[in-house]
Amino acid sequence: MPKPLNIAIIGAGLIGLSCADSLMRASGAGQIKITVFERRAAPMRGTSFCNSGMIHPSQSQSWANDDKRPDRADALTRAANHAVFDLALQSRALLQDNFKRLNLVDILERPKGCLQIYSDIQAAQQAQKNFDNFGVQSSILIDSVTTFGHPALMFPDDMSGNARLYGEALTDSLVSRGAIFIYEAEGLHLLPQNNGIVARLSPERPAMHLPPYFDHVIIAAGPQSSAIMARLGLSLQLEPIKGYAVNYARPDMDLPDVPVMDAASRSALTVFKDHIRVSGTWDKPDETYLLDRWRDIAPHLMEALGPPLLTWTGLRPVSRAGRPYISASSIPNLWVNTGHGHLGWTLCAGSGELMARMVLRGEADKRFIYAG
Ligand SMILES: Cc1cc2nc3c(=O)[nH]c(=O)nc-3n(C[C@H](O)[C@H](O)[C@H](O)COP(=O)(O)OP(=O)(O)OC[C@H]3O[C@@H](n4cnc5c(N)ncnc54)[C@H](O)[C@@H]3O)c2cc1C
Repeated sequence: MPKPLNIAIIGAGLIGLSCADSLMRASGAGQIKITVFERRAAPMRGTSFCNSGMIHPSQSQSWANDDKRPDRADALTRAANHAVFDLALQSRALLQDNFKRLNLVDILERPKGCLQIYSDIQAAQQAQKNFDNFGVQSSILIDSVTTFGHPALMFPDDMSGNARLYGEALTDSLVSRGAIFIYEAEGLHLLPQNNGIVARLSPERPAMHLPPYFDHVIIAAGPQSSAIMARLGLSLQLEPIKGYAVNYARPDMDLPDVPVMDAASRSALTVFKDHIRVSGTWDKPDETYLLDRWRDIAPHLMEALGPPLLTWTGLRPVSRAGRPYISASSIPNLWVNTGHGHLGWTLCAGSGELMARMVLRGEADKRFIYAG
């Protein structure tokens, strides 16, 4: 029997876990050994911990663009947006299969769709035209409960669910299939050699049996990916963009059953099974703006909330190219899968699947290339 492929994945967030899952599912029994290195003490404790829960291909347009030439930037941005949209649609279908496989009833039973509110009906109509041109279906809706009385677009092909519960269930499933998780692996050193990549934990760690080298290493460390690449002499253009999440107990009143987005503040209100989450914004110094904004949008609901159960901040790994990097690198057998920005939950399963095809079958996809 041929020697199994040893594959290391750096990062146990939505993207790293999805890579592990797709690689294991695409390989026969005993053909692959997956080791996930995570710097924290548990999976899903980075940006994936507390996001807004939306699986929203409708929002595939980039939030970032570093190209200073408008003519080229427009063409590049359009191409990137469409590539991301295609991947989001594939990813959503894969996620639906995964929810069934992992028996995630809470997600399976949630109503489909996401809403986005606007300041007035003209703004909603104009946005609807733009979405329609991009290929995203929507309908206009105003309702006192679900849109808090504001004009909104309903995206029926979006969906939502608790990403942390998904990631934790996926981790359990990976462990049951033989994946090894090494936590508190902050001091990991990667040393590219001729036959593969050697991984060494910091000398303070108790001795741990690692293979002499890994055949492949995938960097899926979210906003920290650039620092890891830099230690290997590679430059990865990522901007860590801060967002916030505040959880509250559900008050006893009628609540929207799908997430409600506010385009102006890049934030959302999501009702989960046992809590409400207000989350998002773009690089503000703290959560004050987020909460003030939702007090304006939904005053009755915000007044009915008790004290926060949790206040959290996370960094979105935003790629300067306006789309993720899912690609080989110039170091043989070193791969990168990051830069998913505001779309990591939406794109995770598709990104994992694409990475598995690249690593195992030698496929490439120029749309997500990393040129470093
Ligand atoms: C407020 C907010 C709301 C959001 N809402 C949505 C949404 O509704 N829908 C959506 O699709 N997306 C949403 N996102 C984006 C989404 O959450 C992210 O794109 C996604 O979580 C990124 O996943 P990741 O696996 O790349 O990164 P992470 O989840 O950060 O995982 C990377 C992991 O790598 C580990 N790591 C880092 N450095 C090292 C190292 N040196 N060694 C070992 N391990 C290391 C980290 O500890 C971390 O666990 C939101 C983001 C924010 C901040």
